Amino acid sequence: MSGTTYSVAELEARIGAIFRGVGMNGVQAGAMARVLTAGERDHCKSHGVYRIEGTLRTVKAGKVNPQAMPVLAPDDGSALVRVDAQGGFANAAFELALPALAARADKLGMAAMVINDCTHLAALWPEVEAVTAHGLAAMVMCPSYATVAPTGGTEPLLGTNPFAFGWPRADADPYVFDFATSVAARGEVELHRRAGKELPEGWALDAEGRPTTDPEAALAGAMLPFGGHKGSAISTMIELLSGIMIGDLTSPEVLDYLGSTTLAPRHGELILAFSPRAFARGRDGDPFARAEVLFGAILGQGARLPSQRRFRARAEAAAQGITLSAGEVAMLDRFLEQ
Ligand code: NDP
Repeated sequence: MSGTTYSVAELEARIGAIFRGVGMNGVQAGAMARVLTAGERDHCKSHGVYRIEGTLRTVKAGKVNPQAMPVLAPDDGSALVRVDAQGGFANAAFELALPALAARADKLGMAAMVINDCTHLAALWPEVEAVTAHGLAAMVMCPSYATVAPTGGTEPLLGTNPFAFGWPRADADPYVFDFATSVAARGEVELHRRAGKELPEGWALDAEGRPTTDPEAALAGAMLPFGGHKGSAISTMIELLSGIMIGDLTSPEVLDYLGSTTLAPRHGELILAFSPRAFARGRDGDPFARAEVLFGAILGQGARLPSQRRFRARAEAAAQGITLSAGEVAMLDRFLEQ
């Protein structure tokens, strides 16, 4: 395969230069370069260099503040760590507030980071993993924009609303899962359309709210949540907790604000951190040792843990670098020259 291989640091520097070139300050450009490089490094192609274009489009549309300096609210002694992204990217705000979140979860047993007024286009696992690096369990969630009908409904209302969880492990990579609550990513529907392929049943509704396997009709209609009523309820919970409860936009409000699904969504984000030892208080032994028994039993059946594929890709990237296709390299060059 023709292409170019970069070290992780080289790719991050290149992406950072592209972002600084369109007027993003060091805080925003650095955070976005780190998270998109991590996506590429871990073979999460949907959240790697592919996302640069959408990031630039959102900056050019004036829907994100490229010069934002996130502001951390003073410690009020409570479990809430509030950070105002000032209209910038969520990742810059998260990086600023993470030490305070970890310190408060250590002290109080649990804490929550509330990010307001941010644009979020990245995967959630980098944030979950960063919390587990402090020996804490984590849950992360945020809305998106209305593209998913509630189960039993007919029109787009919920977002693809991602949800992620992490559990720290002393001698292994953390246990981490991270997924959209829609049955498939919207990009998957688009890929089926381009390939002229029917969608699997149960993915989407047409504009009249009827089940469809035609990708064109699905794009004009709505996607469906994963797991029927269960995914629909989890997605609704994400709207409530990380939209309404934190005083930020819900997915239908995001769509109203942007008027498009081609720009990165602006809303809030909720990050919960738990100290397993504080919760267990020594009952039934060490929670981390007990978790290992559970993981061992899962693996013992021949199942794999979520994120194992990513961690393998990460190890490969550390040893061999990250290879981009000729098309991807040309895209980076084009963005660097503009
Ligand atoms: P996937 O279905 O690709 O993966 C979901 C999770 O399941 C991953 O942790 C994956 O681990 C794990 N997994 C997959 N197969 C197995 C298996 N056989 N056994 C055990 N675990 C498995 O995720 P989605 O397509 O739903 O989401 C992709 C990304 O999109 C997420 O990172 C999400 O945060 C992001 N997203 C972001 C949005 C935003 O607005 N910011 C909106 C919607 C989604 P592994 O990676 O190791 O395969």
